[in-house]
Amino acid sequence: MDHFAIREGRMFAEDVPMAHIAEKVGTPVYVYSRATLERHARVFRDALSALPSIHIAFAIKANPNLAVLRVLAREGFGGDIVSIGEMKRALAAGMKAADIVFSGVGKTRGDLRDALDAGVGQFNIELEEEGVALAEIAKSMGKTATAVLRVNPDVDAGTHAKISTGKSENKFGVPIDQAPDMFGRLAALDGLAMRGLALHIGSQIFDLDPIERAYVKVGALAMQLRGAGFVIDRVDLGGGLGVPYERGKVPPSPAIYGEMVARVTKGWDVTLMFEPGRVIAGNAGVLLTRVIWVKPGIVRPYVIVDAAMNDLARPAMYDAWHDFEAVLPSGERVVANIAGPVCESGDTFAMNREIDAVKSGDLAVFRTAGAYGATMASTYNSRALVPEVMVDGDKFAIVAERVVPEKLIAAEQVPDFLKD
Ligand SMILES: *Cc1c(COP(=O)(O)O)cnc(C)c1O
Repeated sequence: MDHFAIREGRMFAEDVPMAHIAEKVGTPVYVYSRATLERHARVFRDALSALPSIHIAFAIKANPNLAVLRVLAREGFGGDIVSIGEMKRALAAGMKAADIVFSGVGKTRGDLRDALDAGVGQFNIELEEEGVALAEIAKSMGKTATAVLRVNPDVDAGTHAKISTGKSENKFGVPIDQAPDMFGRLAALDGLAMRGLALHIGSQIFDLDPIERAYVKVGALAMQLRGAGFVIDRVDLGGGLGVPYERGKVPPSPAIYGEMVARVTKGWDVTLMFEPGRVIAGNAGVLLTRVIWVKPGIVRPYVIVDAAMNDLARPAMYDAWHDFEAVLPSGERVVANIAGPVCESGDTFAMNREIDAVKSGDLAVFRTAGAYGATMASTYNSRALVPEVMVDGDKFAIVAERVVPEKLIAAEQVPDFLKD
């Protein structure tokens, strides 16, 4: 459930009319709902309330905006980071270093040092050499790094190839059959406290069966390691739960997921860690846009909006679907294509889609844009970097400014050898 709804014929974000935001901030603009974020955080936490010990770290890459992170920090969430930039954001938003999990397949030695320096709570190790480097660096700093080994359980999450991460050909995790020996070698190193395992098999998952199979495999490995005398006090179950991008296509709820986790992990006697991203932020944001033209097409009309692939990359990158809804719907429907102004045919949000009839100047939203939306935005075609707004009841605030071309140009230089 979210707080973007039509009331008395026009769309609101909580108690703020969308048209009001467009008037004050301009378009395109991302609009987040604080109440929706909080609701999603609580629903997720409540779904896991039967588990004896949990830790939830929001996957910051899904939405790294400081205000969004602040809302989640106040809900008690830690952060799952994949870069030092994300670590800085998590700390700036009030997340505790001890509640930060450092994931990612390409952490540099410098990243490891910076994270140790800040007191990051857990490192998810992706390969043996990384663990060896982490141990050396921690030792040289007089510290011990708490770590888990990320395993690749070799299951197909049944999701889009570009967001699948748990098959043996993916770059993530160590092969599960090599994990026991590797864990033993890493556990013997000074400077490193190996405490468990991690996995994450993909994103936008609609089918719980592959996640369950992966969890069963990792649980068996955890029990095997404990049987061999290692301390195993945590298993990081990753993120990946899907969200409904398209009306009528409903993923398993956090409650159903929570029931599965409780059943599968019974008796593990560990702290279970979770890294949700999309399921928390996805439906807490929309991309508000204005129709520039409705261009008659040869087959279908093209609705040309002022948002483009540089603002919301998911359709161009993953063929993703985002529902498109008018802010002042007339009740009339048309079948049309929706595209942005960028000079790429890939800058198309939808083809042959039945949508609210819109005309030049009308406002509309792309729904479910709160995750992997603004964070993937670029300035391609020298467009401004899209701003972000957060609504709280009948108030709203700009939480990321529009970065205009003047500012981008100011960060560039013509070198001396070209100045004559
Ligand atoms: C991307 C990612 C997540 C979050 O995935 P969602 O599908 O957004 O829940 C969690 N953990 C890791 C390691 C990731 O790479």
